Amino acid sequence: MNDVTIVGSGPTGLMLAGELALAGVDVAILERRSTPDLVGSRARGFHSRTIEIFDQRGIVDRFLAEGQTAQGLSFANTSLNVSGFPSRHPYTLGLGQSHIERILLGWVEELGVPIRRGLEVTGFAQDDAGVDVHLADGGPLRTAYLVGADGGRSVIRNVAGIEFVGAEATRSHLIAEVEVTEETPAGIRLDGVGIHAMSVMEDGRTVGIVVTEQQIGPATEPTLADLSEALTAVYGTDFGAHDPRWISRFTDAARQAAAYRSGRVLLAGDAAHIHPPTGGQGIGLGVQDVVNLGWKLAQVVRGVSPDGLLDNYHAERHPATARVMRNVMAQALLQRGDARTEAMRDTISDLLGFEGPRAQLAGLLSGLDVGYDLGEGHPLLGRRMPDLDLTTAHGPRRVFELLQDARPVLLNLGEPGSIDITPWADRVQHVDADHTGTWELPVIGTVPAPVAVLIRPDGHVAWVGDGTQTGLSEALTTWFGQPAKKDVA
Ligand SMILES: Cc1cc2nc3c(=O)[nH]c(=O)nc-3n(C[C@H](O)[C@H](O)[C@H](O)COP(=O)(O)OP(=O)(O)OC[C@H]3O[C@@H](n4cnc5c(N)ncnc54)[C@H](O)[C@@H]3O)c2cc1C
Repeated sequence: MNDVTIVGSGPTGLMLAGELALAGVDVAILERRSTPDLVGSRARGFHSRTIEIFDQRGIVDRFLAEGQTAQGLSFANTSLNVSGFPSRHPYTLGLGQSHIERILLGWVEELGVPIRRGLEVTGFAQDDAGVDVHLADGGPLRTAYLVGADGGRSVIRNVAGIEFVGAEATRSHLIAEVEVTEETPAGIRLDGVGIHAMSVMEDGRTVGIVVTEQQIGPATEPTLADLSEALTAVYGTDFGAHDPRWISRFTDAARQAAAYRSGRVLLAGDAAHIHPPTGGQGIGLGVQDVVNLGWKLAQVVRGVSPDGLLDNYHAERHPATARVMRNVMAQALLQRGDARTEAMRDTISDLLGFEGPRAQLAGLLSGLDVGYDLGEGHPLLGRRMPDLDLTTAHGPRRVFELLQDARPVLLNLGEPGSIDITPWADRVQHVDADHTGTWELPVIGTVPAPVAVLIRPDGHVAWVGDGTQTGLSEALTTWFGQPAKKDVA
């Protein structure tokens, strides 16, 4: 029996596998695709916080070496430049999803996680001690915990009976790669129906197409005839489209699972939330989900924390994603070319000329403003820990380097040795360090320098010290379990 079985080896499932493997959990992935190849193109990149998370795990250079950095954030056609934000990665990384998955897969394989391909999960049954996972062929397989990272049409979510709540689709788009016999117009076209775009691909022959359909298409797989019809309605010709490499359909539906957990079963990534691809938020949300979930699940599996800690995953990630989804829905609505929508876009663009609104939206869409509700206190509490330059007894270090093993850190910037966390020393790294310079948070600005911080494995601050240890034991117990008992001689 595995401790954790993940269904799906998309970006979400792979990242979770890496997190659990780092925490020493026995984890396996079940994947219905028989090879790692991804059919068609989906994501084309991700934003600052996701890049930071990969930096926290020491794998960011693998992505940076293959992608293109750019100021890629926008709201309703107004560019949102994040280069002024205090982050080592104030940009978007352009990189196709097949490359993202290949890089993550390489990391997960180095960590020794088995990926069982060609296995389609059809359902599960859970009891007090574990979960039986049902497969289309063979099985069942027994696991202590099951995570559905199986995409927007998640079988795990459906079988768990978890409601998928939100806005119905109001329009649908076809996305395709085809050959053509006529020259195609490059770039984006907006009309009263929606957004349409074409670009010739690297081979110089194939054209990548996104076209909004005149009416919402059915939930079945689209055909070349559907594509021709949609193109002709917009451009007056189908450009002689033929030999499709693939055709797919997506909609502007935006739905979120009402619960991210049902007993021993959890949901993450697109299985927990779907929304239009506008603004490229999908991969980042899935990665942030599982970097939040991974260490909590690992501690529950290892008996370090009670299983109630898993409810905190929903409590933190559900509202964080709901905020982003609200914004994405608004952006998708503004993807039309009629006069009223243009007037609204222009009005918003005027407002985004002011620093306050611009910073708010840029903070949200880059993921750099993400913070969890850990109660009143210092502005750092619950927010992402900045990647400060530190001086330690072992030489210069960056904060993110301390997080590479996905273990919590008590960072003491006061008198060395002035904080005692001996009862948690088996779980929490204790680092004495110096930092000179200001503490700056995106959107918020400069904050008072703390004397110590307790940093969770996901890079969020769980406690801020003012020179005393007030509240530290409670924070350590809440997040990292009961203190170890002293050996009785
Ligand atoms: C046109 C388009 C453009 C996009 N652009 C962007 C972008 O620029 N940036 C961005 O961040 N996001 C973008 N997205 C969204 C992004 O692709 C998704 O959010 C992301 O793939 C979600 O990852 P995931 O791992 O949660 O799910 P998925 O990538 O869907 O992975 C799910 C995995 O589970 C497997 N699976 C499913 N069911 C089963 C089963 N029953 N048994 C076993 N295995 C199963 C699947 O084969 C798959 O490998 C775009 C999406 C679309 C459609």
